[in-house]
Amino acid sequence: MMAIMEQKRTQKLLLGLTGGIAAYKVAELVRLLRQAEIDVQVVMTEAACRFITPVTLQALSGNTVYTDLWDPRMANNMAHIDLSRDCDAIVIAPASADFMAKVAQGLADDLLSTLCVARECPLLIAPAMNRQMWDNPATQRNVATLLGDGVTLLGPAAGDQACGEVGMGRMLEAAEIFTGVQSYFAPKLLAGKKVLITAGPTFEAIDPVRGITNRSSGKMGYAIARAVLDAGATVTLVSGPSHLCAPRGAVVVAVVSAAQMNEAVLANITGMDIFISVAAVADYTIKQPSRSKIKKSTTALTLDLTPTIDIVGHVAQMPNAPFCVGFAAESDNLHEYAEAKRKRKKLPLLAANLVQSAVGSDDNDLILFDDDGVHPLGRQPKEALARELIQHIATLMGRESISHPRAAEKTNKEKT
Ligand code: C5P
Repeated sequence: MMAIMEQKRTQKLLLGLTGGIAAYKVAELVRLLRQAEIDVQVVMTEAACRFITPVTLQALSGNTVYTDLWDPRMANNMAHIDLSRDCDAIVIAPASADFMAKVAQGLADDLLSTLCVARECPLLIAPAMNRQMWDNPATQRNVATLLGDGVTLLGPAAGDQACGEVGMGRMLEAAEIFTGVQSYFAPKLLAGKKVLITAGPTFEAIDPVRGITNRSSGKMGYAIARAVLDAGATVTLVSGPSHLCAPRGAVVVAVVSAAQMNEAVLANITGMDIFISVAAVADYTIKQPSRSKIKKSTTALTLDLTPTIDIVGHVAQMPNAPFCVGFAAESDNLHEYAEAKRKRKKLPLLAANLVQSAVGSDDNDLILFDDDGVHPLGRQPKEALARELIQHIATLMGRESISHPRAAEKTNKEKT
């Protein structure tokens, strides 16, 4: 739905529910979709109505819920066609094994299955079933058929099931389905690109138990990784210690220290089109960490620190360097320091923020610096900023390949 929000036109989803205990999660999904200003038309099968009532979904979606192929409220009795005609997609959640079998076979014996057969728009399915139903060869044949027909599957996940068993078949959480729908509709601005991203803090050991680190959570870098994946690129994420979940589809290389981060970047940089250096890398490391725990004493302790390698500065100087994006967090003089840093590190683009407005928070107030000047993005959730950053990168890279078409061609050949 990013395309949706960026184009500032109301988009519409037909949300179909089939019979499954996971139907309760759909109330939250409708809420998330409505929050993103997406119009939601709910259609339920008879079995779905046994798990959650149409009244609940009508109240949450603000639209009449349809359940019956023969509903007299549809003016011309063409509900099975009309309801999906102005929709951008049909999303089925939860999708039972039975319903997936029906769609795979093209059966149309109730309103929802008929809508699926008669659709002109993409179909996204979030399966929800017992693990043995999911593993059943017939279900797997149907999954293969659906994928072959261009249907997109959201999930399922593995985990505890309502029946008490544990395994594959659990429906994704509402937020995950929402993200899946968002990803599906994101403009593929970086299709085919290879992107290396650093994220999170680093940890410089003082002794086996202590170290120097910072308050970076990794949220900005992980949000960028997700947005880059949504934009159609492949992502390698070199991450310092972080509690965040790895973005689905990214290759994650976990590191601890600045030196390890540098090694991981160098090991993965060849062939990359873009390097986004979001990590809050330590600028100094302990010259000689103690092998054993330093004992407490009453005298002052002096730590001998030595500068770390400037990873992004080094990468930007490489022959055939990827398009490099740096980050800067400053406590004052943001504009002056950020632009000086961009020039010093020879970066086409640098994103800067005041330390106090970002670290650990879900929001940030980001300003982009490039050869054209300064572009404030304003205070927004990190996910939204990530999408705007990607738009900016795509514009600058597009411009670069127009003004230096031969160089771009040469670089592409060298990268393949
Ligand atoms: O010089 P400063 O650390 O403020 O620069 C910030 C930018 O440089 C960020 O993009 C950060 O990821 C990167 N950096 C780096 N290696 C370091 C220190 C910072 O790549 N050792």
